[in-house]
Amino acid sequence: MQNAEANASFEAAKTDVQRKSLDQREQMNELMRIRHSCAHMLATAVLRIWPDALLDIGPPTDEGFYYDFDLPSHRFTPDDFPRIEEEMRKVAKENQVFEKRIQTREEARAYFEGKGQKFKVERLADIPEGEAISFYQNGEFVDLCAGPHVMRTGNVKAFKLLKVASAYFRGNEKNPQLQRLYGTAFKNKEELETWLKLQEEAKKRDHRRIGAEMGLFAFDSEYVGPGLPLWLPKGTVLVEELERLAKETEFAANYVRVRTPHLAKEKMYKTSGHLPYYAESMFAPMEFKEAEADEVATRYYLKAMNCPHHHRIFAAEPRSYRDLPLRLAEYGTCYRYEQSGELFGLMRVRSMQMNDAHIYLTAEQFAAEFNAVNEMYLKYFKIFGLDRYLMRFSTHDPSKLGQKFVNEPELWKKTEDMVRDVLKSSGINFVEVPNEAAFYGPKIDVQVWSAIGREFTIATNQVDFAVPQRFGLVYKDRDNTEKTPLCIHRAPLGTHERFIGFLIEHYAGNFPLWLAPEQVRVLTIGDDERLVDYARSIVTELRGQQVRAEGDWSTNPIKAKIQDAEQAKVHTMLVLGGRDLDAGVVSVRLHSKGPQGAKPRAEVVADIVAAIRERRA
Ligand SMILES: [Zn+2]
Ligand SMILES: [Zn+2]
Repeated sequence: MQNAEANASFEAAKTDVQRKSLDQREQMNELMRIRHSCAHMLATAVLRIWPDALLDIGPPTDEGFYYDFDLPSHRFTPDDFPRIEEEMRKVAKENQVFEKRIQTREEARAYFEGKGQKFKVERLADIPEGEAISFYQNGEFVDLCAGPHVMRTGNVKAFKLLKVASAYFRGNEKNPQLQRLYGTAFKNKEELETWLKLQEEAKKRDHRRIGAEMGLFAFDSEYVGPGLPLWLPKGTVLVEELERLAKETEFAANYVRVRTPHLAKEKMYKTSGHLPYYAESMFAPMEFKEAEADEVATRYYLKAMNCPHHHRIFAAEPRSYRDLPLRLAEYGTCYRYEQSGELFGLMRVRSMQMNDAHIYLTAEQFAAEFNAVNEMYLKYFKIFGLDRYLMRFSTHDPSKLGQKFVNEPELWKKTEDMVRDVLKSSGINFVEVPNEAAFYGPKIDVQVWSAIGREFTIATNQVDFAVPQRFGLVYKDRDNTEKTPLCIHRAPLGTHERFIGFLIEHYAGNFPLWLAPEQVRVLTIGDDERLVDYARSIVTELRGQQVRAEGDWSTNPIKAKIQDAEQAKVHTMLVLGGRDLDAGVVSVRLHSKGPQGAKPRAEVVADIVAAIRERRA
């Protein structure tokens, strides 16, 4: 159904951890076992200090692990961490064995009821009938858990508690609020140290912090609402530059642009399949009667994704095989109802503008087109200097056709084979992940690593062979029969919000010239009238060439002016003194790189214009 964040955030909307199958558990790698075992050790330590703590669950995560507690008598703060960690170190030193024990459901229930562990009793009910109910015990601590763990607590050698947050039981706002302790664990101290350093660097590059310092975006929860970013003038520059890049790239690849409204009738999302399944992730509908005489009110929803609108554009005119592939592109705005606790800067928002396009095509056209889409990704990676990326190709599981996956065995096989072939023959870095496809077709999640080595999922690329059918989309083929097209959803630049959040970290706010909100600042040494005129004429010339240039001809000392410009992360400073004026040159200084020497004015201007046009890194 959808690309980009659609799936990601729809999945995240169900914040409760999905129960892992036994197969998935067995595949848990060593690091995950260490982390999960460490969660048990955390719970052991917490119970030693606060015996009245009620336990929920403690799964491993990509970054470490957490454990959820209900503890009304005490509110965890980071001040508690040293004490808890000390107790955890004791548990490690005791080198307790993780012992597995199979219990009957009744025994398990009796055990947890006896301990007053009500959340465990509820979790017990999640275990399907027929699946073994296992307890794991280390020392005095017993947990309901399917494993796996490391052999002994002593195998967990490097860990650290990170933060405390609140979380609802099962991720549902209607349930009691629990306290979540986050921590991380690694195989050894060196790996832990490296990771902590990376986190430090990431903190410095935190997009929320840099965004505020540079004046890129703001949130106004009181008047606008949480999760609805306001793009300030400098942030708007980033948005528009990315959009220009997409427009030019897509134009060259024969896309056509469309524009669609921000809302649609309920019927649209029922047809697309978003309703009722994803109703929780959509804003509540607006309801009104179109005419006074109407008996029933019409419901309108803010659009959670652009696809259905584009499908209606496909349907708006008769289509022939000659029109295909039809590539409809729009930087469309979508709205998702994320719970307020899930919102995070630009990374998780309620309104987002997506680098969306839907490509309608025949099965014969698929391989070439899919290849072209991948080429576009690679082109973007190059522009942004992303040398580390991975495409996660998610395929279906034939045993789950008709349940988890739309029941089209031949189409699944055909499209997956095509995607695999294209990925293999193009030498793209990819892994295949079985059983993770979307309901409507195989998908590719694109992961990239920022300059400091942090991983982001920025985009999803999806093949869809069910929705065009649901919308009754057809084209007239050569033989005059009506056929249903395939559809590729793609959004290489993801959403502006997430992609810019990523770029801020990637560049630490030091954007390349073409992207920099303020590209050039002309600084005068002193405020001599002739010098200021010279400086003004350079700013005017640059602006005439569409360069975002500003001037600083105040009486401030040049040192202070340079400092100001450095702080504002202005890409290029042109420093002018009396001698530069007489020689018709300008002294170039680059942000965080220092002086680059004096060059003739015309050469400097031409070079700036060319660097921007070529989007040099
Ligand atoms: Zn466990
Ligand atoms: Zn789509």
